[in-house]
Amino acid sequence: MMNHATTELFFDDLEVPADALVGEEGKGFRYLIDGLNAERILIAAECVGDGRWFIDRATRYAKERVVFGRPIGQNQGIQFPIARAHVNVEAADLMRFRAAALFDRGEACGAEANMAKLLAADASWEAANVTVQTYGGFGFAEEYDVERKFRETRLYQVAPISTNLILAYVAEHVLGLPRSY
Ligand SMILES: Cc1cc2nc3c(=O)[nH]c(=O)nc-3n(C[C@H](O)[C@H](O)[C@H](O)COP(=O)(O)OP(=O)(O)OC[C@H]3O[C@@H](n4cnc5c(N)ncnc54)[C@H](O)[C@@H]3O)c2cc1C
Repeated sequence: MMNHATTELFFDDLEVPADALVGEEGKGFRYLIDGLNAERILIAAECVGDGRWFIDRATRYAKERVVFGRPIGQNQGIQFPIARAHVNVEAADLMRFRAAALFDRGEACGAEANMAKLLAADASWEAANVTVQTYGGFGFAEEYDVERKFRETRLYQVAPISTNLILAYVAEHVLGLPRSY
């Protein structure tokens, strides 16, 4: 779906000199997690951009495409899903900025980074579906780029962290529920 190929890489008996240590010994996983928060905020921003791209395309097409003598965008059945997707993308954008502000201040932002990624991935996926539906048959045509972006934005339900694992994080670390895995 993404021209995605995987390659395995093995390191056997690799020795690293002590002066190559990053930070303090034993805290590596914490440093890694902090880096992942930045990635989640970045991906949330990407999803917000994707979502806006879809909504822009869907809106324009809904104005241009005339069926039964009127633009399809004059029908609430077409308008409302686009409007709802827009609302959800803009809401996700607020959480993305909240997470980014915390990160920039060097404060804990695990919950916000995860929530931003989940909200933005859901919103862009919703916008993608709405756009394919608005385009009808042309939603599947290569030349409009909608089907390509639809495939690309599906990725963010899975990577860089799957939606289920974000929910597991929020359940355990934000709500204090027992660890499920
Ligand atoms: C195009 C692409 C690019 C990628 N790029 C990178 C990269 O640059 N760097 C990198 O490190 N990784 C990368 N990844 C990997 C990506 O981070 C993982 O695929 C992702 O985190 C999901 O892990 P997994 O594939 O091992 O799925 P699994 O952990 O095997 O999970 C499979 C499914 O089961 C669900 N699941 C698993 N455990 C539970 C549970 N306890 N409760 C409920 N549901 C569960 C998951 O939500 C998922 O839907 C990339 C993946 C893709 C597809």
